[in-house]
Amino acid sequence: MFPVDFINGLHETLGSERAERVLAALSGEPEVSVRVNPFKLSAEALQEHFGSLSGESVAWAPEEGFYLKGRPSFTLDPLLHAGAYYVQEASSMYVGRLFDRAVAALERMSGLRVLDLCAAPGGKTTQLLSHLDASSLLVANEVVPQRATVLAENVARWGCPNAVVTSSDPSAFTPLRGFFDVAVVDAPCSGEGMFRKDERAVAEWSPDTVRLCAARQRRILGDVWLALAPGSYLIYSTCTFNRQEDEENAAWICAELGGELLEQRHFWPGEDRGEGFYAALIRKDGAYAAGTPVAPAGLTILEKGSLVKAFPAAFVRDLARLEKSLKVIASGTAVATRKGRDLVPEPDLAMALGSVHDALAGLLPGFAFESVEISREEALKFLSRDPLFFPDAPRGFFLLTYQGQGLGFVKNLGNRTNSLLPPGRRIRQQIAIQDVI
Ligand code: SAM
Repeated sequence: MFPVDFINGLHETLGSERAERVLAALSGEPEVSVRVNPFKLSAEALQEHFGSLSGESVAWAPEEGFYLKGRPSFTLDPLLHAGAYYVQEASSMYVGRLFDRAVAALERMSGLRVLDLCAAPGGKTTQLLSHLDASSLLVANEVVPQRATVLAENVARWGCPNAVVTSSDPSAFTPLRGFFDVAVVDAPCSGEGMFRKDERAVAEWSPDTVRLCAARQRRILGDVWLALAPGSYLIYSTCTFNRQEDEENAAWICAELGGELLEQRHFWPGEDRGEGFYAALIRKDGAYAAGTPVAPAGLTILEKGSLVKAFPAAFVRDLARLEKSLKVIASGTAVATRKGRDLVPEPDLAMALGSVHDALAGLLPGFAFESVEISREEALKFLSRDPLFFPDAPRGFFLLTYQGQGLGFVKNLGNRTNSLLPPGRRIRQQIAIQDVI
């Protein structure tokens, strides 16, 4: 049962007929939807992968998102681990559309600095990376350290080198005055859009929670506002339905911080296929200065201790500036660790885009690997860190691919292989024999 105050609030906002329709939908089954990584796979190929489970495209993200007619065991799909797609709630994919609108309005496709402030586990971050030109930079931040680790993993899976993952409180962004061209604040909220999926969200809801969340959102928005350039864009979103956290906060931004509301949209379960969402596009007052033109997209090698990374050359100075204010936990693509005179490949390199591997051929000549295509059964063994043998494969490090997608590295010692998959990324689920056939 839903809280009475929640039901009354819905009736007030929507009128009785629509409110009852939304409430009926909230008691039904949640939708399942996925979003393809366009750098790794086409949407058609991913639909083929899901076969008869594949359903319709998401109306507001038709090139990248589609529904599934059931919930497969995603954990046991090596393509998910390889970053070929992301399981994302459909209505929240609207952020991609608002982001495209913001970029078009800036009349500047390249060299953008984009912030995703409340980013874990990485649904919006990976979508923003898909929509971002390779010559732009995305800073994905998550204040909760354990969640930031998951975010960094999901960013690595997406394979793009033009991302920095940070784990800072929003207040740490205030010294970065005017730094960002677009910021997404997908704020922590009272989670009414989680009611169909998560009983705890219902149990934790109260009018007081709504008030506390709305106040916290204003604090977060006030902090990030200073880091936005004049004339830049904010996408503010929540997965909740009430006006205090949604429309009233958008109005507060415009009135108190100085912005113009260009669009706001609610997604309602029962009316739009998804769990429900709110998103607003706001332009910060002031004249936008296109900034200094950046050099064409190109990677450079950065070394931090023994870690060798590939990072966009045009943003090296920006990275130093970010490191002064923020806790940076990952930047660019982790390529290798120096061990004496050897370079040991980093796990994230396995999932890096082809463009990163191409660039490394010039930047680190001689640092190259053969790859071995493996079956689903072998891929699941690799992901479980179970022993694998490749008697005919080359000695030393090589890359394992599944359906052509890089999954991870192993070191072949002849009679056995050592896995380079970090223990923390191991699948912990028991795999039944029918799962691998
Ligand atoms: N954008 C994410 C995605 O698409 O996968 C979902 C973000 S979730 C709605 C909100 C996030 O805000 C959570 O990861 C939460 O840990 C974080 N958060 C919680 N308190 C916060 C605070 N005071 N400031 C900033 N972020 C906070």
